[in-house]
Amino acid sequence: DRAGRAEAPVGPGRLADGTGLPLLANLGSAEGAAVAIERGAEGVGLFRTEFLFLDAAMAPTIVEQQEQYTALLAQFPGQKVVVRVLDAGADKPLPFLNDGEEENPALGLRGLRALRAKEDILREQLTALANADAATDAEVWVMAPMVSTVEETRYFVELAHELGLAMAGVMVEVPASALLADRILAVADFVSIGTNDLTQYTLAADRMLGSVAGFQDPWHPAVLKLVGEVGAAGVATGKPVGICGEAAADPALAVVLVGLGATSLSMSSAALGDVRTELAGVTLAQAKELAAVALAADGAPEARAAVAAAARG
Ligand code: PEP
Ligand code: MG
Repeated sequence: DRAGRAEAPVGPGRLADGTGLPLLANLGSAEGAAVAIERGAEGVGLFRTEFLFLDAAMAPTIVEQQEQYTALLAQFPGQKVVVRVLDAGADKPLPFLNDGEEENPALGLRGLRALRAKEDILREQLTALANADAATDAEVWVMAPMVSTVEETRYFVELAHELGLAMAGVMVEVPASALLADRILAVADFVSIGTNDLTQYTLAADRMLGSVAGFQDPWHPAVLKLVGEVGAAGVATGKPVGICGEAAADPALAVVLVGLGATSLSMSSAALGDVRTELAGVTLAQAKELAAVALAADGAPEARAAVAAAARG
């Protein structure tokens, strides 16, 4: 049990059999970087750029953006920083990207869909990121949110490459993308699974709505099955499959996600220590066994309980 287990020292994420499992931080500004580094983050797995501009009435200029991105990147020399282009809409509306009311904003013009409708803004952001990448020693990976088709993937990856970013991927947070992950990964350099939205869209329950909050549980075997599809596609293509939703911050679930094929986990800095400790106690073979236990359950509470029982042995 975890209470009796020694805390793993701050260092790279590693399973009991020595398999490396990079642990990264989710950040919304450069200010959080110091704490992330202190807690042993091996880089950034999700930089939510929209948080920088929530109060902006007009689109930020390339120079303004470059300053913000450079401030973050400069703190991670030699490390990976996965930057997400603006995820505007639904729970995070930006006035300069989202105009007009939508009845169902989570199903509307959000993420890459909104950026594509205003491509100048997307081009400016990618240009600012390429400039910041060139100005620092961090390794910038760029990704698009709310992607649901292979065609959108190709559009984004080609544009990012054209504008000078070497590593371009997409978030898998819509079931359609998880189900076609092999084809998405044939085009993208990597994917990162956003379990918050993947859960919302799989369970058809608005993540902002308290009355259906009980459905927002990433332990649901249907969600895990989709994660497993993506993991298998990662193994088949040899490309990275990260996880950057809240699920990665739950130590027991982090083990299951690794068993399903995740190659890195990104979370709030506060969760890094517990997840590092939990991963250090299991081999990859054990993680795969626990993933199979979770997948075989009927629902989220059953999956959680069955994995806890199996982990106790
Ligand atoms: C997610 O959906 O899991 C995710 C990481 O993105 P956000 O929570 O910002 O939508
Ligand atoms: Mg999301």
